[in-house]
Amino acid sequence: MQTILFHGPSGSGKDTQVDLLVQKYEFENIGTGEMFRRMYKEGDIEAIRAYQYWSKGQFVPNELTYSILNRWVQKFDTEKSWGFVSVVRDEGQIPLFDDLLKNNGRELDFFVHFVLSEEMAIERMSLRRVCSYCEATYHQKYKPEKVSGYCDRCGTKLIQREDDQPDKIIMRLKEYNKSVIPIVNTYKERGLLLEIDASPSIEVIHSELIQRLGL
Ligand SMILES: [Zn+2]
Repeated sequence: MQTILFHGPSGSGKDTQVDLLVQKYEFENIGTGEMFRRMYKEGDIEAIRAYQYWSKGQFVPNELTYSILNRWVQKFDTEKSWGFVSVVRDEGQIPLFDDLLKNNGRELDFFVHFVLSEEMAIERMSLRRVCSYCEATYHQKYKPEKVSGYCDRCGTKLIQREDDQPDKIIMRLKEYNKSVIPIVNTYKERGLLLEIDASPSIEVIHSELIQRLGL
């Protein structure tokens, strides 16, 4: 049983990798995107407050995010490995994440960082399609949908996001790389950093990941 924090820029395939661990290695995929949507639908009061931020694409305040996340993790199987995806987005969230793990009797085994070049980010994202309803993501080359143009999960017509254009991709990657430095440094100092090259295929990344995690 492991506890791992996954991080990587948009297009690094981190969600796909964690989903593979869910399918094959008894992992739970714990992220804030699904948390905000589900808790909001369930009428959770704090999630309704958070909605005022994320519905406008704004950053939800750290304390609010973690107050919800502390309750959200209670829904997951404590006997399984927990894979947190991008739940530490700025330095201020590191102590909040430390507390969350402590409260749940878990210790972080690894901080897995998927590293991606600009060229690769562009190749990945310009071929990406998303479902505007359930937010499932597809890729024309790596993960095509079963019925062309429609979501496998809910049947909604797939779209290309506006910010999956090359200039937007480069800008976002630069911002990401800048913001992630203090986070990477913190986990590096703690001896938990595991850097994975996100350029190869899904299968190659997956086998490197399971090998380095000792699964
Ligand atoms: Zn869908």
